[in-house]
Amino acid sequence: MKIFTKDKLEMILDKLAQGAEVFVPMSRGNSSGFYSWKTRNPETERLMLDALNVYLSPKNVGFPQTEKMYSIIQSGQESDIKETFEDSSPRVIFGVRACDARAIRCLDDVFLTRGYEDSLYKARRENMAIIANACYSPGTNCFCAGMGVDPTEPEADVIIRDTGDSGYIWEAKTARGEQLTAGISELLEEKELKAPELKSFQTNVDYAGVAEKLKGMFDHPIWQDLSQACQNCGICTYVCPSCHCFDIQVKTWGDEGYRFRCWDSCMYTEYSAEAGGGNPRPSTKERFRNRFLHKLEFFTERYGYPLCTGCGRCIVACPTGINIVKIIDQVKEANVDV
Ligand code: SF4
Ligand code: SF4
Repeated sequence: MKIFTKDKLEMILDKLAQGAEVFVPMSRGNSSGFYSWKTRNPETERLMLDALNVYLSPKNVGFPQTEKMYSIIQSGQESDIKETFEDSSPRVIFGVRACDARAIRCLDDVFLTRGYEDSLYKARRENMAIIANACYSPGTNCFCAGMGVDPTEPEADVIIRDTGDSGYIWEAKTARGEQLTAGISELLEEKELKAPELKSFQTNVDYAGVAEKLKGMFDHPIWQDLSQACQNCGICTYVCPSCHCFDIQVKTWGDEGYRFRCWDSCMYTEYSAEAGGGNPRPSTKERFRNRFLHKLEFFTERYGYPLCTGCGRCIVACPTGINIVKIIDQVKEANVDV
């Protein structure tokens, strides 16, 4: 088996960064997220491979919060595309946890399958490798296993496994993973190490049957009660690794300009506002219901698994303590004959 000792970690990141932009979990300011290794300030920023989940997920690597789509030239009422901004430069996301790796699969399914391909996402994704960090000690708000994710077997090109003082096991899982392995081979050793045992989850969720039950709960009074504390701030959607809605805007000067897109949130009133002045989700109840039905029912109907990966970020970030685990529990307990 291939392993690397912990003193080699930064050398491995430096080596990988010679051929790609490498995103790693690290602290930045008063937050944390996946940032480019080459932009790290070692005086103030800490590599956070030990953290179960950094505050911001790696969603921005394949799907940036704001990105230019294409430039335009206008002539009267007509406008032509001048240039598109697909970016296929190589990227590696290092240290992804299983929940976030599953969320990348959600984005892949949305942006690349069912007869529709998002060219901007596709360009990034085709040249993106995932090096995942297997989890063995789930945190207080982690519930990935309940959502069908195996924390010890992330969906990735390479899996690293922290064995403590002895170092990390390095397991290539795909051809791309083998290529990465070849590129850093002088920093790896052949040695047998034992991966840790998975500890018990502190938060357990029983998602079985929830998608089916929700089909009959669109008009259930539970949504009024559950949504009462929601302030429609949208933080839950921004920190979520699998939320993927975006808005497209245009910036013009004279006859020129460009279109860009930025993350949007279904928790905002404007998200579902219609040009004629109507809004099918006029109040918090409808917006809240849509978010949870999309996560727990609609996506499962379409793709066969939920749009929640159990990362727990929304539980931590919500200013009013709304907790998706409790929502799943209450859906399970709800009387549908009301
Ligand atoms: S809904 Fe919450 S727990 Fe589920 S993936 Fe999104 S942020 Fe994580
Ligand atoms: S973070 Fe909480 S309060 Fe804000 S929109 Fe999401 S559920 Fe509502």
